[in-house]
Amino acid sequence: MLDLPVKTIDESRQGEAYQSTKRQRSDTGRRFYLESYGCQMNFNDSEIVASILEKEGFSATQQTEDADLIFLNTCAVREKAEQTVRKRLQSFKKMKQRRPNLLVGVLGCMAERLKTKLLEQEKLVDIVVGPDAYRSLPGLIADAEGGQKAVNVLLSREETYSDISPVRLDTDGVSAFISIMRGCNNMCTFCVVPFTRGRERSRDAASIVAEAQDLFDNGYREVTLLGQNVDSYHYLEPGKPDGEAITFAQLLAMVAQVSPLLRVRFSTSHPKDITDEVLYTMKKYPNICKHIHLPVQSGSTRILQLMNRTYTRHWYLKKVDRIREILPECAITCDIITGFCTETEEDHQETLEVMRYSRYDLSYMFFYSERPGTLAQRRYKDDVPLEVKKRRLQEVIDLQRQMTVEIYEEEIGHTYEVLIQNESKRNKDEWSGRNTRNQVVVFPKGEHTLKKADYVQVKITGSTGATLLGEIVA
Ligand code: SAM
Ligand code: SF4
Repeated sequence: MLDLPVKTIDESRQGEAYQSTKRQRSDTGRRFYLESYGCQMNFNDSEIVASILEKEGFSATQQTEDADLIFLNTCAVREKAEQTVRKRLQSFKKMKQRRPNLLVGVLGCMAERLKTKLLEQEKLVDIVVGPDAYRSLPGLIADAEGGQKAVNVLLSREETYSDISPVRLDTDGVSAFISIMRGCNNMCTFCVVPFTRGRERSRDAASIVAEAQDLFDNGYREVTLLGQNVDSYHYLEPGKPDGEAITFAQLLAMVAQVSPLLRVRFSTSHPKDITDEVLYTMKKYPNICKHIHLPVQSGSTRILQLMNRTYTRHWYLKKVDRIREILPECAITCDIITGFCTETEEDHQETLEVMRYSRYDLSYMFFYSERPGTLAQRRYKDDVPLEVKKRRLQEVIDLQRQMTVEIYEEEIGHTYEVLIQNESKRNKDEWSGRNTRNQVVVFPKGEHTLKKADYVQVKITGSTGATLLGEIVA
């Protein structure tokens, strides 16, 4: 997979080990090591898993050598993601021979896709747990300690883990993710997610708002509401009539009202579901960030139909127009797949045209990877040669890079409110933060006494392509 600075799939975080900042109250002396792959939802799930394990008295370690339990929280969206996990599992082989009591568990989408096959294929795996079965982890660990292979890959229609307060991966203490729903009811033909994460279900709105409030009270200043398709969020409190269901636009407003100092972001929006009500809610609340991730996948109506995306090229472009009309300052980002079944050069040119028209700030770009069990794998032939898929992907990447450079150059002279997230990695005398459009802005600290989680007005003075440079406006 090749991509520019990323958001949903952060390459720099793939394989990241969970690190806890909490002291254990009931430390049993047993340690777990938890490594995460894939999208942000998976990283958020790891925080739920860590919370469940820490409650059982396990504590986190960042060293596999110190661990009694090694867990990999996996992704199955592309073949490459699964190959990475298989290689990683092999690297534990010697350790497992040396320490027979060490338990190895595979969690997440790859566990769900392969189920017990994983135990047959990867002999060193002891525990296999799907995304809806994390509550059963303590029991499964006990089974595995008793010498049994432990598997729970049951999908649920209800599980949202709404009562489990995730232990934050605590990268900056400023920005956190909140899962607002699980699963997906869309059947995009290329996608394995509906099979690995099950039916869509929305989490209790009150628990989402409470989590946002708790984060705010603990110093966080930004939350990102996460779901495969956030715009179809629909929560009906038990016992209430259907007309009283909470929509995504209403939820956004509820979270925005936690505090004007709490920034709210969300991802991902399916173009078919994002409504004017959402756009007007974004307009109404200055603290809802002006950025929409609106994956198009392909610019050809014929390919979109084969993908079962349920919109046409024309319909998508009208949605882009509508966003620009209601929210002229809003950044749009995208996901694109090249080389889907039967894609011709003309289809590919149409994708490039849609990119030019939409002027994405950035995109996550992939070549098509056939996934076993998906509708596309069952219905169509994966007939675009790999070198063609890759060449088209490179053209898409080149165009995106050029557009990102242009868009960032155009920012010079603008002044933005920036939320400080960290010291710049390159220079301790500089801050790094993001503006409402999700662009990273780096600027000198100067004489100002500022700290992480502060807001500051920054005038953009330059650009390095994917980062904006600026100076504090007094
Ligand atoms: N729910 C989100 C949506 O509809 O846009 C995205 C979920 S998916 C985990 C993230 C991205 O991976 C998709 O938008 C798509 O571009 C890409 N993807 C999914 N399946 C793929 C496949 N079989 N081959 C290549 N890319 C794929
Ligand atoms: Fe996959 Fe489509 Fe659901 Fe996104 S909306 S998770 S691409 S099936």
